[in-house]
Amino acid sequence: MAVIYLLLVSLIASSHAQGTYGDRPWPATLATLAADGRLRTDPKATVPASMDFGNITTALPVAVLFPASPDDLAALLSAAYSTPQWPYTVAFRGRGHSIMGQAFAPGGVVVHMPSLGDAASPPRINVSADGQYVDAGGEQMWIDVLRAALARGVAPRSWTDYLHLTVGGTLSNAGVSGQTFRQGPQISNVYELDVITGYGEMVTCSKELNADLFDAVLGGLGQFGVITRARIALEPAPSRARWVRLVYTDFATFTSDQERLIAPRPDGAFGPMSYVEGSVHVNRSLTGSLKTTGFFSDADVVRIVELAAERNATSVYSIEATLNYDNATAASVDQELKSVLDELNFERGFAFERDVSYVEFLDRVHNEEVALDKVGMWRVPHPWLNLLVPRSCIADFDRGVFKGILQGTDVAGPLIVYPVNKSKWDYGMSAATPAEDVFYVVSMLFSSVANDLVRLQAQNRRILRFCDLAGIGYKEYLVHYTSRGDWVRHFGGKWGWFVAMKDKYDPKKLLSPGQDIFN
Ligand code: FAD
Repeated sequence: MAVIYLLLVSLIASSHAQGTYGDRPWPATLATLAADGRLRTDPKATVPASMDFGNITTALPVAVLFPASPDDLAALLSAAYSTPQWPYTVAFRGRGHSIMGQAFAPGGVVVHMPSLGDAASPPRINVSADGQYVDAGGEQMWIDVLRAALARGVAPRSWTDYLHLTVGGTLSNAGVSGQTFRQGPQISNVYELDVITGYGEMVTCSKELNADLFDAVLGGLGQFGVITRARIALEPAPSRARWVRLVYTDFATFTSDQERLIAPRPDGAFGPMSYVEGSVHVNRSLTGSLKTTGFFSDADVVRIVELAAERNATSVYSIEATLNYDNATAASVDQELKSVLDELNFERGFAFERDVSYVEFLDRVHNEEVALDKVGMWRVPHPWLNLLVPRSCIADFDRGVFKGILQGTDVAGPLIVYPVNKSKWDYGMSAATPAEDVFYVVSMLFSSVANDLVRLQAQNRRILRFCDLAGIGYKEYLVHYTSRGDWVRHFGGKWGWFVAMKDKYDPKKLLSPGQDIFN
């Protein structure tokens, strides 16, 4: 199947001479880019841009732009907007870590964003003199932003679980992880952006300047322009993380402890934990699921499996949390952690601790990537389902999904569940969230490892149908809808504004067509 696809692709692509798109010449403003090899139509450029991490769908662009500077991007977008014979859409591909072709431009142009950073001089990550913020190119990966900031003793405040994603890619979604409860998603930690709009105009925006563009772009699924620079908030960097996993056999106790850890105090301040997430390990895949956390030793796994049998538990749950510290606070970290854990109701004797450098903790998923890639399990299809579930419905979700639909099935891939505070999200931005003050991030990161993609996709549909029938007012995160009605429902009260912003900044509806919102 893949061979036939590649053959077809080469046949189509060979009909595109480098100096033309289709049978027409490039618009004059792009001729130099084509001549210099920055705008390419050969399969070596277009085929990789037709695939993504999801490994489920493909769509071939006509060309790929490898921009040497934001000016190249502005030239492409302004040609797309103003040349009547230039009908192509444009997508911005960070690292292509989308699941369902969100960074594709079928029959259009994909921009290979990493090229902006190649040999850029001056470098496109700059920490401010006072260490308050970092200016990072939209194409930069968060791991590189982290390293540059740490060299100055500072670090961004809000993260994703995996750092080999781009700044522009996660800011186009939201960027969530275990810090979100106290810092907000990554989009709540940006001071300023440079954006090239659908007109090819370079615009600087912030809460004070061109605020509508700023709000629209953050969580805006690449619909209004391309982020070429983001000014990201920093904090003093801790040097180490005390990293714990606490085991539960009862869902209500697990979520009640999670909510205790993320609750603001009456003065609005948060408790000492820096990061709070959690996992569900369903019984049938218990041993494998515990092992793939990479956290528990084999002996720990045996004890936890015995505990589950003793309690007759259908699933095991684990809170994952960190307490960050540095030299100044090292002496008190044990005591501080103990006083937090003393208030929780995990299974006694089932608290597991590690002590790691801050980078080792933040970059933890990369180790999994390397290990999975070695055994050919990283590039399998990923029918992920990410939901934001209101707190009032999370017990129903557990009953219907973790204790229902997923019982008796083989689950390959982590099931991540953790609450966040809506007060840390800015309703004015594009990202859509459920209506309640606390909602759960539920990431069911399924991997198809047994030729079972169709089954897993059907299972996802069952989960969504269950949520709909149970009246769970969820929002999908990293979603790929194909019908207008679904998008209208997704954005809810923001839909009218979202459309108005599209009309204002990309009136020809050329940008990020892979999201399937306006085409
Ligand atoms: P791409 O997939 O290349 O692009 C995504 C979309 O953004 C496209 O529509 C594209 O056109 C647009 N876009 C890309 N760059 C720009 C730009 N500079 N300006 C404007 N639009 C742009 N997400 C979380 O929130 N939390 C997590 O913990 C998390 N963990 C993940 C772990 C793994 C292993 C993977 C694969 C993904 C994870 N994600 C997580 C999802 C991630 O946020 C998305 O995949 C996101 O799209 C970033 O990937 P990317 O940088 O490769 O962007």
